[in-house]
Amino acid sequence: MNAINPTNIQFEPGTPATEGNFIPLCVPEIRGNEWQYVKECLDTNWVSSVGSYVDRFEEMVAEYLGVKYAVGVVNGTSALHIALLVAGVEADDEVIVPTLTFISPVNAIRYVGAWPIFMDSEPDYWQMDCNKLADFLEKECRWHQGKLYNKTSDRQIKAILPVNILGHPVDLDAILEVACKYNLVVIEDAAEGLGAKYKGRMVGNLGDIGCLSFNGNKIITTGGGGMIVTDNEAWAKKAKYLTTQAKDNPIEYIHNEIGYNYRLTNIQGAMGCAQMEQLNDYVATKRRIASLYDEAFRDIPGITTMAEAPWAFSTFWMYTILVDEKQYGRGSRTLLKDLSDRKIQTRPLWQPIHLSKPHAASQAYHVEVAPRLYQTSISLPCSVGLRENQQDLVISQIVH
Ligand SMILES: *Cc1c(COP(=O)(O)O)cnc(C)c1O
Repeated sequence: MNAINPTNIQFEPGTPATEGNFIPLCVPEIRGNEWQYVKECLDTNWVSSVGSYVDRFEEMVAEYLGVKYAVGVVNGTSALHIALLVAGVEADDEVIVPTLTFISPVNAIRYVGAWPIFMDSEPDYWQMDCNKLADFLEKECRWHQGKLYNKTSDRQIKAILPVNILGHPVDLDAILEVACKYNLVVIEDAAEGLGAKYKGRMVGNLGDIGCLSFNGNKIITTGGGGMIVTDNEAWAKKAKYLTTQAKDNPIEYIHNEIGYNYRLTNIQGAMGCAQMEQLNDYVATKRRIASLYDEAFRDIPGITTMAEAPWAFSTFWMYTILVDEKQYGRGSRTLLKDLSDRKIQTRPLWQPIHLSKPHAASQAYHVEVAPRLYQTSISLPCSVGLRENQQDLVISQIVH
């Protein structure tokens, strides 16, 4: 798609960034106070890495999640990088992570010099398999002087990094139970799960520290941005310190650690505040889109829709189906191409990361389900601004 130049393309406010009758997968929805708040930044010169909107955005997210501290950062990947650092994950440690996820958390594990151990997905809700996780910890690890070691690699295991994929929560209580038993930190990747609930508790506030993303395709966006959330005051302070170049003196440029330039700007914060005001609306809309798809596909042989666990309130951030080629008649990639020919944008799920080149040397524990999900999956257009006639068109191309 070409860049959209607002001076020569007219579109109604609230419609997704479409050209012609192209239906995009998942694009931002900007229809609230974004213009007003961003304009205020420009008018007052508060455009950069400090300003009241950053603070307000952090407060809004903290309040929404019921968490004590929130630290805004440039994107979700940097949030994960810093969360791993403040949680004490070091070079040559190991971190358990699902293999079926966007690659960001796995790269962040490597940024700190640690190594991923890949867990399979469970077949029902496609999240990390907590039974296999418990099995792995029980059978494949050993205690030595109060620390947990992987018998295969002889490295210390420090953390579990569950990811709530596609807007559905992972079974966090099962993870917290083994984390407690084996003394592991839980770093929750909630980049895709903002607005979701697990047994009534807010996703993002389920582990020891949580990470959010406000990338353009996420449920709310600041263009690019992220946030670290935690109840741990020392970790929050450390996160703020590390993301602002680890400056130790308010006047003098004195630094006692290697820091990062990871701060969110006030312009992004302004957009974030406006987006937060609309988050609950967006979640309701996503759920409505999902239920219309569910209804349309219910009786189609070979199509499996996204299930919602009894304990879950999903945002259905990225509406995804599984396609059984034999029963349905077309495979997921053929369907993807057919829809693309109709100017309907779709995407498969991520290649399981233990199969990706930079991470292929890392351990994968009995992975069986994730590759099948990968091969049969296709995510359908589900922007908050998706119009009903557009969704009908998508459905009509699948159901026939
Ligand atoms: C989007 C995403 C991130 C972070 O993405 P950024 O683009 O760096 O903001 C992290 N984890 C998951 C699972 C994601 O989907």
